[in-house]
Amino acid sequence: MITLLLATILCAPCEPPRQDPPNILFIMSDDHAWQAISAYGSDRNVTPNIDRIARNGITFDRYYVENAICAPSRAAILTGMFSEHHGVPTNSEVFDGAQPTFPALARESGYQTALVGKWHLKSEPVGFDHYERLIGQGPYYRPRMIRNGEEVVHPGYTTDVITDLAVDWLEDGRDRSKPFVLMVQHKAPHREWMPGPDHLEDMVGIDLPEPATLFDDYTGRGSASTMQEMTIKDHLRPMDLKLEMPDWMMRMTPEQRAAWDAAYEPRNEAFRALELTGMDLIRWKYQRYAKDYLRCIASVDDSVGRILDTLEAQGLADDTIVIYTSDQGWYLGEHGWYDKRWMYEESFRTPLLLSWPGVVEPGRRTELLSQNIDLAPTFLEIIGVEAPPRMQGRSLLPVLEAADDAEVEDIGWRDALYYRYYESQGPHKVPKHEGVRTRRYKLMVFPELNEVELYDLEVDPDELHSLDDDPAYAAIRSRLEDLLVELRSRYRVSGDW
Ligand code: CA
Repeated sequence: MITLLLATILCAPCEPPRQDPPNILFIMSDDHAWQAISAYGSDRNVTPNIDRIARNGITFDRYYVENAICAPSRAAILTGMFSEHHGVPTNSEVFDGAQPTFPALARESGYQTALVGKWHLKSEPVGFDHYERLIGQGPYYRPRMIRNGEEVVHPGYTTDVITDLAVDWLEDGRDRSKPFVLMVQHKAPHREWMPGPDHLEDMVGIDLPEPATLFDDYTGRGSASTMQEMTIKDHLRPMDLKLEMPDWMMRMTPEQRAAWDAAYEPRNEAFRALELTGMDLIRWKYQRYAKDYLRCIASVDDSVGRILDTLEAQGLADDTIVIYTSDQGWYLGEHGWYDKRWMYEESFRTPLLLSWPGVVEPGRRTELLSQNIDLAPTFLEIIGVEAPPRMQGRSLLPVLEAADDAEVEDIGWRDALYYRYYESQGPHKVPKHEGVRTRRYKLMVFPELNEVELYDLEVDPDELHSLDDDPAYAAIRSRLEDLLVELRSRYRVSGDW
């Protein structure tokens, strides 16, 4: 009786009863730019199924990563820690699967856990009742996969294969007496952006809008942005542009190969006949690259639709939290680039959408600063497991439960994010850097160059004019430099490189 009274007092107005704890369905793609999701206002594609999650749940408009590159991000999501602590600061290290991760802790608490798709952490997945993972990056067609330690080969298009594995598991792989964590991790839309059979003909005959900074000349900033090797102009290879395809990329069935050749051969012949040069050639490369990237996303969006439909058909929709995210953001031609790595907004900022029927207000958006280290503590709090003290992120549960951002600000929320990128000797030659971002400002420090960049994002959202030596911003620079030291200390990150 007392319990019932308390429940009545504590949950007014009462929501309908829900399964407690809920299932967690975590869908992550690889390199999906927030600019390429219609819920984030894309001017170049539509993602009707990913938008279903936005419509049913919350869209994070200021969600960021701690290190904008694949393997470090995956380790940060699993462990809730910065790169300095999870042991994978670049794409080269082997992830230590013995450390606490949210799926392993969920499993210990009674969840059934499964992973299908890309893993990319060099060690075997730990903490899953079932997994079927790609080998390394995995190909776009006919992938070899490791299913609980055994190799299997699938004849299909990789995005569709991963979707089939997720749907099959939801239909037949579950232990229906337990809540579940299912991680569905796509390879797409990672380089080399090979579209699937269903989308080879998308966007033919139309011109995509060009980003305002496609022809960025990198003036107005320090030297870092001139040193990279990720321009559409100079660094896309013939195979990236589908002009010369090596055998290892064309691991297709005869039917898949015939459809591919029928799509690309006439387009390539038409391109060669034009003999483009200069800006016309850059514009052509941008269109070819961006369309192939968006075609890959179309298959990912189809995948989300099939998985959401399966949840509904299985009667799971009301009891399942659905997350869509990417391991980091991406340049879809902004600053003339493809790839990621930078603390500039396009790659630092990352999509995050989450629906939770009965808890998250449908259609809500938040501008509170959040980061990928927050996901593990969030999931653990939701399932009722205490996050280990080593986890450095902050549970987003108050954000999910609030009606608006003001409600969360009343109880206090973070006002700055820390970022650090380590892989300066790797591909694309992006110099090491670290930085701090507040709601309005961003300070970036390049230790090898002895340079600082400072942006006022309210007046310069494209980050074209560094204010590092502007006297009007001297006090702000000084405050941000202090904040950087403070965050390093809070997160126990070394000042040395
Ligand atoms: Ca990635």
